[in-house]
Amino acid sequence: MKRYLIIITFIIIVICSTQTALTKPKVAVTIFPLYDIVKNIAGESVDVKLIVPPLASPHTFEFTPHEIAELQGTKAIFCIGHNLDNWVLKVRYAYREKIPIITVDKDIKTIKNNGVENPHYWLSPLNAIKMADYINLSLAKLFPNRKGNFKRNTSNYKGILLSLNERTLKLLKPLRGKMLLTYHRAYDYFAQAYSLRILGSFQPPGGKSPTPYYLKKLTEKIKEYHVNAFFVEPQIPIERVKSFISDLALQIYYLDPLGGVKGRESYAALIRFNRNSILKAFK
Ligand SMILES: [Zn+2]
Repeated sequence: MKRYLIIITFIIIVICSTQTALTKPKVAVTIFPLYDIVKNIAGESVDVKLIVPPLASPHTFEFTPHEIAELQGTKAIFCIGHNLDNWVLKVRYAYREKIPIITVDKDIKTIKNNGVENPHYWLSPLNAIKMADYINLSLAKLFPNRKGNFKRNTSNYKGILLSLNERTLKLLKPLRGKMLLTYHRAYDYFAQAYSLRILGSFQPPGGKSPTPYYLKKLTEKIKEYHVNAFFVEPQIPIERVKSFISDLALQIYYLDPLGGVKGRESYAALIRFNRNSILKAFK
């Protein structure tokens, strides 16, 4: 009899824990760095889904009907906004119950390049701290009974971001004023946070293809400032810039705006990767 009781208790426990897993509320996030920040704050009590897969670009991403279908039941979608992931708005009316879309830019001052708003604000850890605060508030509003968990997780995670910022400030201090030549215009916020400068990018701000006139002007600047480090990105096929690299005898280094792959499995690891790459380039 005792044995049966133990078995029945065990079955009940299994059923209950399966149900908790099934009833976990679901939120979605557009890009990996934001996904990692949301996950750190949400903890285990919320199911967080990433929309843009690693090594794909949010600038060119398009939803398939299957991906839209997978978002059914999602309580909110977190995004960057400012034309980076605006394709997410397509989901809003896909279901009878409208999914709230939350842009995490609260209290963040955006930078403009030649009149074009730069959406890559997440690449500064100081902005990530502001994002964390806003994600905490948003999650608490969505799931008030888990509010205490979110608050605790946010406070721990902000500690990690603060020390990441301190360490990066310290390591990059000797490089103050150094000029970065990048593939696309994604690092203005990082440069601003650590007193670096952006010489220019192969791709003009806003993501259009470079015109011959644009590249001529960029080449002049590269020569004027004697820049020889060129920061490309893992999401971009290197063939696209091969002749640019050989014509100007540039040295290749990598900066990653997105991560989500080995060595950049978290937001903090992504920032460390970029920091180390810059340190290597100016050694
Ligand atoms: Zn970008």
